[in-house]
Amino acid sequence: MMNHITGIALASAIIFALTPGTLTAGESPQLAAEATTISPAEKELTDWIAAQQDAMIKDLAEIVEINSGTLNVDGINKVRDILNQELAALGFQTRTVAGGEVTSLTCKGGDVQFADHLIATLNTGESRKLLLNGHLDTVFPEDSRFQHLLIDGDTLKGPGVSDMKGGLIAMLYALKALHDKGLLANVRLTVLLNSDEEMGSLGSRPLIEKLARQHDLGLVFEGSSQNRMTRHRKGLGQARLRVTGRASHAGNAHEEGVSAIHELSHKIVEIEKLTDYDQQTTVNVGLVQGGEARNTISPCAEAYVDLRYPNNDLGNRLVTEIKRIAAIKHTRNTHIGQSPETETWVKLHRPAKPIHPESDAIISAAMGISAALGQTLGSRYSGGGTDGSIMQSVGLPTADSLGPDGEGDHSPREESSISSLMIRTKMNAVLLSRLIQD
Ligand SMILES: [Zn+2]
Repeated sequence: MMNHITGIALASAIIFALTPGTLTAGESPQLAAEATTISPAEKELTDWIAAQQDAMIKDLAEIVEINSGTLNVDGINKVRDILNQELAALGFQTRTVAGGEVTSLTCKGGDVQFADHLIATLNTGESRKLLLNGHLDTVFPEDSRFQHLLIDGDTLKGPGVSDMKGGLIAMLYALKALHDKGLLANVRLTVLLNSDEEMGSLGSRPLIEKLARQHDLGLVFEGSSQNRMTRHRKGLGQARLRVTGRASHAGNAHEEGVSAIHELSHKIVEIEKLTDYDQQTTVNVGLVQGGEARNTISPCAEAYVDLRYPNNDLGNRLVTEIKRIAAIKHTRNTHIGQSPETETWVKLHRPAKPIHPESDAIISAAMGISAALGQTLGSRYSGGGTDGSIMQSVGLPTADSLGPDGEGDHSPREESSISSLMIRTKMNAVLLSRLIQD
């Protein structure tokens, strides 16, 4: 594979040796990239994009104003249909793939149903096979108060402007620019837009892995931060615990109750102890629910836990520890001889994404183009994951923060900027044109 990348800026990449586990999120040995020269043909691409600014903001507004929280299947379908039409207009063959479902393991029970994913392919020649990825969903549910795009000078505020509807617009307009200049006539491109990234790509992971194995390079249009592209990422995992006890009147029959909340509380304290900053492993019991009423011994309680780890060995160790803690019965009602029962579901849904020389080569190329366009980019280590981690884990070199800069992701403070959207779209158009023609 290495010979595929000789034309891009690998030579300018300075790669330092890494001591695993010694970096904190945000730190990274810096990748350096010299500004490359933008050719007249590439200048035509960036000029074309500059003239599209109003259309880009209009299109961004349209998809930001449609709520597409992961569980809002109707909303995701609408956003997907818009992108489907846009890609079809560029000549892509499009199809949807069933989103699938996953157990919720909540006290309410039931499965979580995901919206369908979109695959768009364009095979017009013999270029390198590129897999372009983004996700349609956001973390904001249908009843969130954060639903609209606000434009304040250069600032864009709204659900998904950074994570990652801004990235979808950057990808789309980079492709439109290539189409306008006749550069999609000899390509092998696949666009995968999945619906469930914000819940860990639990339904789409097999599809991502299958497509990743069929391509030569991966490009993920998730946002970047503070003008830094992400070189490497922690791994992510998640655990769900459901504890079942026995309901009883808290006053008249306290001794006949088995408290699920009491049992879960012990487990939460033990699980939180697994955080080890020295090893760069963190756990967060981020969601807890349980009980029925103040005066009822709680018959059920649930917890959702987030796991982060610098390498997959430490991830697997967290899984073992959580299963061990979940299996311990911390409490027991000796009056009726009953302890609560615990069901556990644990998954390392995104492997750690180590520094990879071929991914570095794509990132360096992007950085070199950005510098030529007037913006110097740095690089970083991120505690957050993207589907690029899945793609690279099955052998596809992947650059995964090609979208516009953003801050405040996953909060009502989420924002990006018009200037960042514009320069990243230009960067991506030039990058794609080089990767296609290289
Ligand atoms: Zn995202």
